[in-house]
Amino acid sequence: MTPSAPKAVVVGAGIVGTWHALELLDAGFAVEHLEADAAPVGASVRNFGLVWVSGRRSGAELDVARRARARWEEIGAQVPDLAFRPCGSLTVATTAAERAVMTAFAKLPDATARAITFLEPDEVHACNPAVGGDITGALYCELDAVVEPRLALGALRAHLAARAPGRYRFHAGRRVTATAPRTVIDAAGTPWEADLVVVATGAAYDHLPAAAALSARLRRVRLQMFETEPFRGHLTTSVADADTMRYYPAYESAPRHELGEQNRVGVAHHLQLLLVQRPDGGLTIGDTHAYSEPFDFALCEEPTAELLARARRILGAELPAVRRRWEGVYAECTDGAVCLREQIDDGVWLVTGPGGRGMTCSPAIARDTLAAAGLAA
Ligand SMILES: Cc1cc2nc3c(=O)[nH]c(=O)nc-3n(C[C@H](O)[C@H](O)[C@H](O)COP(=O)(O)OP(=O)(O)OC[C@H]3O[C@@H](n4cnc5c(N)ncnc54)[C@H](O)[C@@H]3O)c2cc1C
Repeated sequence: MTPSAPKAVVVGAGIVGTWHALELLDAGFAVEHLEADAAPVGASVRNFGLVWVSGRRSGAELDVARRARARWEEIGAQVPDLAFRPCGSLTVATTAAERAVMTAFAKLPDATARAITFLEPDEVHACNPAVGGDITGALYCELDAVVEPRLALGALRAHLAARAPGRYRFHAGRRVTATAPRTVIDAAGTPWEADLVVVATGAAYDHLPAAAALSARLRRVRLQMFETEPFRGHLTTSVADADTMRYYPAYESAPRHELGEQNRVGVAHHLQLLLVQRPDGGLTIGDTHAYSEPFDFALCEEPTAELLARARRILGAELPAVRRRWEGVYAECTDGAVCLREQIDDGVWLVTGPGGRGMTCSPAIARDTLAAAGLAA
């Protein structure tokens, strides 16, 4: 380690912790990065990799997402393994009612603020020829992008180690169990002291005694999704269905009640269709949402069948076999804040709870932590 560099410890090697490590390194810190598991396998490797600006709430959340997206693009140019793709997204209508809601939304300032436009079916097909189903139009957002979640964390760590040799050290298998002023203590009893500590333990937000009181401001959400074998078509954009408009706050100004009732499976699983093509052609498809703990330990087939049917309908094609299914759990602030960022001990900050936008917003969340800690952003 450089003797003169200020010291930082980052706990948790998910996307929130990793972006904090990156920003701290850029700010001149020597960073010790601790991860409980042999490699991070939390929400950050289980997501779609969507850098999803379109759905964000106006105000602070949209501002964070825009800044974060710019940072993703910047780092994407330096780290090819992230496979950052500024591919945009299509939120597709399949009924007259969905089309009407989308055309109404596209006329609002909230659409302009997100560079969202309405496309007629032939324009949708020209934009993304793989969308060959019986559709009635779509909202196109050019700001949405994608990275590769299974590769991103490792690629960023390799980037950090290479750009600041000796100033970034990753320690797998170090589970933090307690805090003290400017210190965390791992399960082996080793104290890790620093000028600044960031605890980014994701859904494990209530495992440290000093953080217990904050758990009332957070909840865990469990999602199910899956990935197919390579699809023969090439999707030039990410794809969503109109049910996403029910959930994303960007669409609060749209006449959403005109969408009518969601179907039974949709209601039962708080379901929406999101679809991203991976570089090898596979399709990541999701997702469901469960809010009540204890969560079921089993993966349920009903939403998978529903999502496959919706994807088939929009793409107008048979889909390849499902090659893997999984669940993931993220932490979300119950007050709608972009994330929870609190000092739980002197110089020890807990940063978690970005919810379903953590992959999108982490770069800007990390910058804002440095600012909150009094470091120039
Ligand atoms: C299925 C799914 C799909 C999603 N899709 C998207 C998407 O497309 N776009 C988007 O923006 N967001 C998406 N999200 C949300 C996003 O993935 C999360 O908000 C984000 O990954 C949270 O990152 P994190 O670093 O806080 O948590 P995590 O990724 O869970 O990382 C926390 C890390 O801390 C480690 N840890 C925990 N306790 C300790 C301890 N005591 N000591 C040391 N280490 C510890 C864990 O092992 C883990 O590696 C999705 C989430 C899920 C579950």
